[in-house]
Amino acid sequence: MKKIGLIGGMSWESSAEYYRLINEQVKENLGGLHSAECILYSVDFEEIEHDQQTGNWDRAGERLGQAALSLEKASADVIVICTNTMHKVIQSIEEKISIPVLHIADATANALKEAQIQTVGLLGTKYTMEQTFYKSRIEQQGIQVVVPTEDRRSKINEIIFDELCLGKMETDSRVYFQETIKQLKEQGAEGVILGCTEIGLLIKPEDSALAVFDTTVIHAKEAVNWSLKK
Ligand code: GLU
Repeated sequence: MKKIGLIGGMSWESSAEYYRLINEQVKENLGGLHSAECILYSVDFEEIEHDQQTGNWDRAGERLGQAALSLEKASADVIVICTNTMHKVIQSIEEKISIPVLHIADATANALKEAQIQTVGLLGTKYTMEQTFYKSRIEQQGIQVVVPTEDRRSKINEIIFDELCLGKMETDSRVYFQETIKQLKEQGAEGVILGCTEIGLLIKPEDSALAVFDTTVIHAKEAVNWSLKK
């Protein structure tokens, strides 16, 4: 089993999910008392979120690059960045290390292709829904991406940072996400990417009018497959 290096804390609510999912997957694959060999570098999210707000992506990239380097030095064989948004700075991370980084959007695009999805809805932070760093990676695989309207994007971003990243799961917000998913369906989406690693804490497959592609689940699975491949 190869060692998985996790860059987490963005937020820690979702990193805890990654840790649980990765261990469950290893147990499912190897049985018995097997559990994942992994190392977690958990950052202070307040600092990262400040860099996001102020557009200081270079500094955020530097912080995460240093975290990745620490994980490599601690003998990690592969890096998993436990957030969709911070894949915006994957280049600054990759250039600091010599081990691979498993891109969350690539793993998601593969899952979409397997399910033969041609048009997909994307939910995530405003950065993920509005900028190109994430969407273009999915589109490169021949899949069309649709996003919610501007007012919905802004409200979803607010729910992510003011509630989900703080561990608050509100019924009103669940309903808001459900309505948004219905609208994405009307826009032609055949599935929906939960493109923020906390959304799966609020929205389960049975809550959604569309097939759900939960990036936390997909990414954790990809990490375990990589770790166990011969
Ligand atoms: N975990 C979230 C994501 O997957 C949002 C937190 C962040 O901005 O990194 O994008």
